[in-house]
Amino acid sequence: MRHQVCIIGGGPSGLLLCLLLRRAGVDAIVLEQRSRAYVLGRIRAGVLEQGLVDILHHAGVGQRLAAEGFVHDGTLIVAHGRRVHIDFKALTGKTVTIYGQTEVTRDLYDALDAMGAPVLHEAEGVTIHGAETDAPYVTFTRGGQAQRIDCDYIAGCDGFHGVSRRTIPEALRQEFEHVYPFGWLGILSETPPLHHELVYAGHERGFALCSMRNANLSRHYLQVPLTDRVEDWTDETFWAELRRRLPPDLAEVLVTGPSIEKSIAPLRSFISEPMSWGRLFLAGDAAHIVPPTGAKGLNLAASDVWYLSQALIAQYQGDAAPLAGYSAQALARVWKASRFSWSMTRMLHSFPSEGPFLARMQAAEVDYLAGAPAAQTALAENYVGLPY
Ligand SMILES: Cc1cc2nc3c(=O)[nH]c(=O)nc-3n(C[C@H](O)[C@H](O)[C@H](O)COP(=O)(O)OP(=O)(O)OC[C@H]3O[C@@H](n4cnc5c(N)ncnc54)[C@H](O)[C@@H]3O)c2cc1C
Repeated sequence: MRHQVCIIGGGPSGLLLCLLLRRAGVDAIVLEQRSRAYVLGRIRAGVLEQGLVDILHHAGVGQRLAAEGFVHDGTLIVAHGRRVHIDFKALTGKTVTIYGQTEVTRDLYDALDAMGAPVLHEAEGVTIHGAETDAPYVTFTRGGQAQRIDCDYIAGCDGFHGVSRRTIPEALRQEFEHVYPFGWLGILSETPPLHHELVYAGHERGFALCSMRNANLSRHYLQVPLTDRVEDWTDETFWAELRRRLPPDLAEVLVTGPSIEKSIAPLRSFISEPMSWGRLFLAGDAAHIVPPTGAKGLNLAASDVWYLSQALIAQYQGDAAPLAGYSAQALARVWKASRFSWSMTRMLHSFPSEGPFLARMQAAEVDYLAGAPAAQTALAENYVGLPY
């Protein structure tokens, strides 16, 4: 097979990149190691920055999002005895939209299907060859058959555990990592959301987040030690602990119910530089991971994909500069979003091993936030997404 761009990974990054390229007449193919049902079954992000919403409209997949997404003008932070409403709209003129990653993925599949774009699932043993040459190619097996795709460029959109980043020689790669000493236990339940906006709760027993997907589907999280296992947490113990971490008036109105999904995700900040090598370009989780506190993972994947799609389109129109500058351009935004995710995590989680000094610093930070419009504006600007 021959295609102009071979995209490895059929998560949101790979599917969106394929759609943007194909809409611009660039012949792209996606190789995904899992089945479509598996990819669609993964419960992950749900807060979309305006930038991602705009890209989805630009790509022609904004219809269901506009009809079913929930626009949030702000968020509530309850921590250290303070209740701070961050009014995104008043402070920045922008909002965020609640719409599940699963739904984004489904819309992307539908659009790719409608245009007959090739998305090959269950592609095993994907291997990148000659990325540093002018004739790269990718090999894999599918249905027991060895296959090869020759291409001009390879996009590594295969997430943190994929092969693309590791194809860049170690000597040319620099990795920056911070692993947090806890994880998030998340449950999905068919219950109404706690509040009309997301509630971030900082508590001495640990952080909690009350989020949602729609009017009768809630996503709640608890900070838990890394040693905890999902089996350690019954639904009852989860709800009881969540109530303890919320202010009494919110705990009282929390509606509980059986969980339909429950999982623990470790938290880490990770960035790999550079995001390109020869004709291989990384995008999304393949190059960086953020803790979910600032809801940046999916949104950063989107900004990478936007930069990369525009750079590849320009390349085919004879302008090589954007593709040459892709890594530096994407990394500048990645570092700023990672700083924000790290600072939100730092402000709201409990770090028992760091003693009372940090706890007092966190209380002072929330106190400052509560009284300083400038600090609220800075938080809001980052939360709704830095421009790109
Ligand atoms: C448990 C969990 C919860 C999360 N919650 C949030 C949240 O609340 N808010 C938020 O903003 N972000 C969240 N994130 C992060 C967000 O989901 C990711 O940033 C986003 O999925 C990145 O998209 P991606 O396409 O770059 O990577 P992925 O979604 O990881 O997709 C990569 C794809 O590549 C495929 N793949 C991997 N290796 C290969 C290979 N060798 N060959 C072919 N295909 C391969 C994978 O199967 C996968 O489909 C969460 C992530 C996880 C893991």
